[in-house]
Amino acid sequence: MSSRHSRRSSTPFHEVKTSRLVSEKLSELGIDHESGIALTGIKGYLRGGQPGPTVGVIGELDSLRVLEHAHADPETGAAHACGHHCQIGMMLGAAVGLMVPDVKEALSGSVALMALPAEEFIDVQYRWGLHKEGKLGLMAGKQEFIRLGAFDDVDMAMMVHTASTDDDSAKFALGGTSNGHVVKYIQFIGKAAHAGSSPHLGVNALQAAMVALNALNTQRETLKNEDMIRLHGVMTQGGAAVNSIPADVRYEGRVRGRNAEVIADANNKMDRCMRAGALAMGAKVNIVTLPGYLPMINNPTLMDLFKGNAVELVGESSVKVYDADRNRGGSTDMGDLSQIMPVVHPYTGAATGTGHGTDYIVQDYVQAVINPAKAMAMTIIDLLSEGAGTAKGVIEEHTPTMTKDQYLALQSSRLTEELYEGK
Ligand SMILES: [Zn+2]
Ligand SMILES: [Zn+2]
Repeated sequence: MSSRHSRRSSTPFHEVKTSRLVSEKLSELGIDHESGIALTGIKGYLRGGQPGPTVGVIGELDSLRVLEHAHADPETGAAHACGHHCQIGMMLGAAVGLMVPDVKEALSGSVALMALPAEEFIDVQYRWGLHKEGKLGLMAGKQEFIRLGAFDDVDMAMMVHTASTDDDSAKFALGGTSNGHVVKYIQFIGKAAHAGSSPHLGVNALQAAMVALNALNTQRETLKNEDMIRLHGVMTQGGAAVNSIPADVRYEGRVRGRNAEVIADANNKMDRCMRAGALAMGAKVNIVTLPGYLPMINNPTLMDLFKGNAVELVGESSVKVYDADRNRGGSTDMGDLSQIMPVVHPYTGAATGTGHGTDYIVQDYVQAVINPAKAMAMTIIDLLSEGAGTAKGVIEEHTPTMTKDQYLALQSSRLTEELYEGK
């Protein structure tokens, strides 16, 4: 596959049309907002009758790229195989609900309505390029919003993600955690030569990558189940012409795990294997490691409030709560935010099929958009009504894992680039 996809789509940091749509809707509602934060992000404010804490309501702007998805953009392959389009609907829906004058006036505090880019950490080479051009510091939406200070005046945040009813029959599911990760952009550099008449004069970067990936697969027996390590990736460039020895081969990968320690260990194995491929062929390998996501911590009080409202909407038997350590292996930058402030990240069962698969289709738009919008609006009323005592309690009781400055220092320490020469 070529790495030069058309970018006119809602894939990361290209959510131009979606961002414009959100801006238009906020303007129609008369909500002041700023656009272009972290390239395509938006933040607006709904202010209550009295001052008080600020609760963030987040919707993600981006899509995934699943070329064979039934609703994929034929030109770009962009597809909502993770249901993020519903999040934008929920965020706007919650705003509409809270704008009822009697409700808005009764709130002590503000609601920050936030549309964030690039949660799916794909198109790694492109993001790395934006970073090197100085257009991005951190390379995902919530990460970069944190770095830019767009969360500085937000005290707590919530969002709801769609889930497949094939996986879980609950209409709302709360709790659990997520894997952390680091992101890899790896370039094997060889030497081009005629593949028929003079292959001995070339250095085959594709063979180097294949040795590296075989070496990576040999590591799997060393991985402990409880660490939830996931080593995976895609070859974004395998060579340029069949009759020329491949000299520039690119791989975008991911090292996931349940905590920073096990991720660092698995990442070390990944790097060793990449070097091994280059060494075997006498090629070079450039290994870029980007700061990925941190595991999710759901705030117990926000969970209880949201759960109460979810039960009111869909009934006790349709709401499930998972143990705090339940981890299915995926990752989100809501995890990053959860390290520095109270957050809640429930799921709403409204789709069928497999997440990130070709058949993930939102079937029930009431449960995908309307009910989560209501649940978030009701939770905000619980937090910010009657002088915002409940929200103030959440802030007082919460001890963040790290400060924003500590978070930024941690993430910048995880960004590395190494050129290894195999010889
Ligand atoms: Zn996803
Ligand atoms: Zn998602």
